[in-house]
Amino acid sequence: MDYYELLEKAFAEMPKLSEENVDFVIPEVDSLVQGNKTIVKNIEQIADRARRDKSEIARYLTRELAAPVNVNNQALDIGAKISQASLNAKIKRYFEVYVICKECHKPDTQIEGRERGYVNIKCEACGARYTVKSY
Ligand SMILES: [Zn+2]
Repeated sequence: MDYYELLEKAFAEMPKLSEENVDFVIPEVDSLVQGNKTIVKNIEQIADRARRDKSEIARYLTRELAAPVNVNNQALDIGAKISQASLNAKIKRYFEVYVICKECHKPDTQIEGRERGYVNIKCEACGARYTVKSY
């Protein structure tokens, strides 16, 4: 095999990142405004996809929305009227900042710990460790 053949072989064997990640989609929020409250009906699915506890996401939304957020069985109760579009924007940001690895762009991260307003994130796919501002 000459150099160019080797090069071609190497390219052919390189993992195609975009294809690998194609099945990961940030979940859409399924919410409902009831009186002065908003119910997120699919918090279970969102938390599963993020591999985070429901209470983690409740904590993030409490901070982002400046409203009380409680986990209520399979749903999330928000003590304010919030449109589905703004919830989607918040959840999208949560995934982008706190779930999807900033090095390899895979959603295989875990929160390792917290200190002084920062969260320590560890990626199980590539081993990257970094900190982001807490919520
Ligand atoms: Zn990674």
